[in-house]
Amino acid sequence: MTAQLTLREPEADGKPFWEAAAEGRLIIQRCCSCGTVRFPPRHQCTKCWSPETEWINATGHGEIESVTVIHRAPTPAFRDRVPFALVAVTLDEGVRMITDLLGDGALQARIGDKVEVCFETCTNGTLPQFRLTRSEP
Ligand SMILES: [Zn+2]
Repeated sequence: MTAQLTLREPEADGKPFWEAAAEGRLIIQRCCSCGTVRFPPRHQCTKCWSPETEWINATGHGEIESVTVIHRAPTPAFRDRVPFALVAVTLDEGVRMITDLLGDGALQARIGDKVEVCFETCTNGTLPQFRLTRSEP
């Protein structure tokens, strides 16, 4: 998938996340001290404040926690995308990501639907997004 969206310059704490996304991988941080996983990237654990952090591969699977269908483009860059579904996803690892929901059925998505990561190519990088998990035939 290709979009005309332009991503902002990644902050230092998030650089590994964006580099992995460019390779088609979804990674999140885990505290080396207490094991708490977190997102978005931060330089310290949100539970124990340890700066010791490792990056782990996320499964890329999760569940919709909330969904909103956007009908009015917030900026001109979104003009060709409306209407689109903006969702809060709880990953299997327990962290929440706010993302667009792409693909078939996105506008009819409901809380509790299962989703999987997909990667959208933007003008200056790759953006992890989600789509409904296709059920096996
Ligand atoms: Zn910790």
